[in-house]
Parts: sequence; structure tokens; C-alpha cells
Amino acid sequence: MNGSFKLTKLFGIDLEINISWLLVFALFSFTLAQQFFPSRVEGLGLSTYWSMGITTTIFIFASVIIHELAHSLMAIKNGIPIKKITLFIFGGVAQMEKEPEQPGVELKIALVGPAASLVLSLLSWIIFLLLPGELAMSHVIWFLARINFIVGTINLIPAFPLDGGRVLRAVLWKLIKSMLRATKIAVVIGNIFAFFAIALGFFMLFRYTFIWGLWYIFLGWMLYQAGQASYVQLVFHQSFKGVPVSRVMSPDVHTVSPGLTLVKLVEEFYRYKFGAFPVVENGDLRGMVTFHQIREVPQEKWPATITAQIMTPEGKLFKVSPRQEAVEVMMKMAAENMGRILVVEDNKLVGILSRTDLMKLISMHLLLGIEK
Ligand SMILES: [Zn+2]
Repeated sequence: MNGSFKLTKLFGIDLEINISWLLVFALFSFTLAQQFFPSRVEGLGLSTYWSMGITTTIFIFASVIIHELAHSLMAIKNGIPIKKITLFIFGGVAQMEKEPEQPGVELKIALVGPAASLVLSLLSWIIFLLLPGELAMSHVIWFLARINFIVGTINLIPAFPLDGGRVLRAVLWKLIKSMLRATKIAVVIGNIFAFFAIALGFFMLFRYTFIWGLWYIFLGWMLYQAGQASYVQLVFHQSFKGVPVSRVMSPDVHTVSPGLTLVKLVEEFYRYKFGAFPVVENGDLRGMVTFHQIREVPQEKWPATITAQIMTPEGKLFKVSPRQEAVEVMMKMAAENMGRILVVEDNKLVGILSRTDLMKLISMHLLLGIEK
């Protein structure tokens, strides 16, 4: 995800924080310190309320990490590598490098997260009972018991791709023995929950509090989007499993030669309207030139400058072999936010793989409803 930075490494997994989380951190601390805790306990100093607010937020943050770590460690134990955990506005995502191949494994991975939250809730509750009630810390712990309970139970709602939806999918998958169809049903059920949340949001908008109404509409919409996205991703994985790059790439690539002056190069950009051209000489890949690289050269220098002088040299380009698996390359492109990738064999350019081409292929598969 863009706008994330690495915080630390836990059990070999990178822990990343999205910028959006910082905003949430500030908002949570503020709400807790200025509104929630003062309404719960009266007569404490402002600094006490703030330290309660910040401590609680840090604990929530730790709880989210524990929830995601539980999923991750269970995945790793079952042979599914986890590259990183990203914390963003609504919590966290553990990035699984592949989907589980058996329903039993999926069930375990999905259940262990909410289980971790519920255990945290129970532990906090026990600590709360042991602490004397007047302590500021008791209120923090009590809040944590509640929030972890809420996180655990909300995640168990059977709305795919929430954990509960994954549990539902695993069960359906076991019963009907088709992961794709199980996902389809789980996504539809997830959509029903999403629309229900949106409808409830509109109802609240007019009857009760405006903000909560908006909040429900927003959450419902996010849930709907997430369900659709994971379904598309799955169809992609299923349809292109084992398919090499050579079968999905575009073999006809328009290239330019390194000796072309920028005046001529600009004409090529106008004629073909691509954002970039591979630079090729006698069939060998020399580099890649983008429209932006031209703009960095003043126009009066265009006649005397050649493409080779401004292009990104071949050694710095990301390339793939036509024999590589298309799904892997696609995931890499998505992760690195690359629009296109050159397909090269023995330094000869054999094709190009663009995100738009892949998207078209996916939508064709979705429309044709191919099932494996
Ligand atoms: Zn979870």
C-alpha cells in the first residue's frame, strides 16, 4: 500500500504503518482524552486524561498488531508466507503471499485473529477485576476489555472478507468442494451485510445522529468494495494459475531506437499516445524512455539530444522472463505500483505486460464465468 513506512520486524514479518494510522492515532487519543474519559471519571487533571487517552490508544494499537500476528503466525505455521503486516485506518492487514489451499487451513487462519482479540478482552477484564476501581489505569483496562470484545465479535460477522466471512467460506468450501463457488456465496452474503449497514446508515442519518449514519454508510461501502476486490483477485488467481507471462503479454510492442532525436521521439509519443517506449537496437533491449523524461529537457535542446541520453538504461529496468508465472508478476506489479513490465529473453524484448491488459483479461474471465 502506498504511504506506508516500516516500523519494525516481528517474527520475520515487516510491520508497516500507513500514514492514515497516524491520523487515527491522534483522533483516538483526542476523543478519549477530551470526551470519553472525562465523561467516565470526573475531577482528574488534563494531563491525566491525556496520558489515559494516549496509553489506551497505544494499547489498542498493540491489540491490533496481536490480532494480525495471530493470523500471520498461523499462516506461516501452515506454509503460507507472510511478507508484511500493514496497519491502516481501520486496523491491520496481514499480506498473505498466497491463498490457503485447504479449507481447514483457511478456517484456522481466520479464526485465530478474533480468538486472539477475545482472549485479550478476557485478560483485560481479569486485570480490571484485580485492580482497585479508583485507579485511572482501571478505566484504561476496562476500555481495552470492551474494545477487544467488539473487535473480536465484529470480525466474526460472516461478511467476506472479514474473518467471519472467511470462516463461512472455509465451511462452504469444505461442503461444496469448490473454493471459487464458496467465495462467490460468501461475497454475496457479505454484500447483503454491506447493504444492510448502508441502509441502516441512511435510516440513522434521518432519525438519529448524522455522524453515526455517515459512519455506517461508509463502513458498508468499504465492506462492499473489499468483497468485490477479493473476488476479482481470486478469479484472477484461479484463471491464471500456472499460466506463463508469454500467454498474457502483448507480443507486439512499439519500440524506438536509441539514436532517435527528441524531436522525432516526441512525434512518436503524439502518434501512439503511450506513456513510455522501450528502446531497442538490433532487437536488443537498451532501455526505456518515458514522456516525463522528455519534459525534463528544454525544448531548444531537443534537436541535438538523442533518446539514449535521457532513457533509463536497460540495467535499471525491471524485467521478467516469458516463462515466469503471470500471477506472480501481477502481484509484484500491484505491490510495486508498476503500470507495465517488459518481457525479455536473452536480452531480446519479446513482449510487454501492462496492467490495463491484465485488467481486460480479468474482466473477460469474470464475464465468461470461467470456473476451474
Ligand atoms: Zn482478523
